[in-house]
Amino acid sequence: MGHVFPRHTKSKLPTAVAGDGCYIFDQNGKRYLDACCGAAVSCLGHSDQIVQEAIKSQTDKLSFAHSGFFTSEPAEALADLLIANAPEGIDRVYFVSGGSEAVEAALKLARQYHLERGDDQRSHVIARWQSYHGNTIGALSAGGNKWRREPFMPMLVPMSHIDPCYPYRDQYEGESDEAYGLRAANRLEAEILKIGAESVSAFICEPVVGATMGAVAAAPGYLKRIREICDQYGVLLILDEVMCGMGRTGTLFACEHDEVAPDIVCIAKGLGAGYQPIGAMLCSKGIYSAIENGSGFFQHGHTYQAHPMACAAGLAVLTSMLERDLITNVRHRSEQLMNALTDTFGQHPHVGDIRGRGLFIALELVKDRDTKEPFDPALVIHARIKKAAFELGLMCYPMPGTIDGKNGDHILLAPPFIIEDQHIDEIVDKLSQSFSMLDELAVTK
Ligand code: PMP
Repeated sequence: MGHVFPRHTKSKLPTAVAGDGCYIFDQNGKRYLDACCGAAVSCLGHSDQIVQEAIKSQTDKLSFAHSGFFTSEPAEALADLLIANAPEGIDRVYFVSGGSEAVEAALKLARQYHLERGDDQRSHVIARWQSYHGNTIGALSAGGNKWRREPFMPMLVPMSHIDPCYPYRDQYEGESDEAYGLRAANRLEAEILKIGAESVSAFICEPVVGATMGAVAAAPGYLKRIREICDQYGVLLILDEVMCGMGRTGTLFACEHDEVAPDIVCIAKGLGAGYQPIGAMLCSKGIYSAIENGSGFFQHGHTYQAHPMACAAGLAVLTSMLERDLITNVRHRSEQLMNALTDTFGQHPHVGDIRGRGLFIALELVKDRDTKEPFDPALVIHARIKKAAFELGLMCYPMPGTIDGKNGDHILLAPPFIIEDQHIDEIVDKLSQSFSMLDELAVTK
């Protein structure tokens, strides 16, 4: 034991040995309530028999067939099911192994789409600050988390970033939600005009921002205006639903809430629910046709794309989610969790904002609730809360504030879609105990 290269080389992790419903057990039998599904992954919990059986049965039939030679039954069935439930116009699915790969494929497909139509000028991508799109070079270039980008800056592809839609810190006093949504979206138009529309290939954003900001949903009208701007200037709209998609926010695709259909949408995490590594990039008929009627070949590819076992797991996950109507449960439990959090933390002096949609909810922690001043990043509040909660047997997903102080530490909750009353009580109780350190830390610096 001990040769695995861990995320953090200085901390020793427990060994996960078993999973049961909403819980993970370590080598000592200690139980952890998975209130974040790792990173919004394990939406069906940890021991779903139907998915496990589907994987076993696919292994008995066929484990792997390279996608350069064959398609497979589970890949075709999963693509059909996704398209039957996808936003309007979305017509094709390109399976990969995770979120970063889905984003890379989307950025390249957008460029190739323009090329196939004889427009070789469009290659520039516009993204947003305080966003996360993955850790591979293209996805990291699109991402707007300065801390993650900084060490690799010389290697990143030039892209531009506009400020995100972030009502808690960006909306003017007295400004309506709709007016704010419009104002924030118009930043895209200004950036397109600055770059020159003829060079812009795509705009990418998360409809509900996950890891970097903590469950920040687009303001009303924001995505509709973004869609309008993209159409006006011939720019493709890529929605990154890797974290917020697949039922997490109470609709299968997060953008359904905003009644906006993208040109390309990326999904992962909840697609395989952790049972297998799988992601996907879905695109519109128009984009697919441009490739089909042009070179006939998307110049991309990975050895493990459309892996039959991963697709079999994804098919079982999505079938189960739809047949059991778990997305309705997401909306129901969301209300319950939000109410419980508001009752307990609504007046907490260091909880500035409680926000989110579906079972994708975050608390932004602040030193001062009135001024919204974040805690000093040197205090690493997020890491302390994570540690305290973990010791109590609660997994939550805390993230630091931005290095430029534009937002505070936050705690993201993204529990399995199967959570019940007692799990909600346990989450709130253990978070509450973990937050007891905040008063003391607020006066130390
Ligand atoms: N996009 C978003 C919105 C994400 O949240 C993530 C992962 N947190 C990714 C892309 C990258 O996915 P992966 O880690 O599977 O490569």
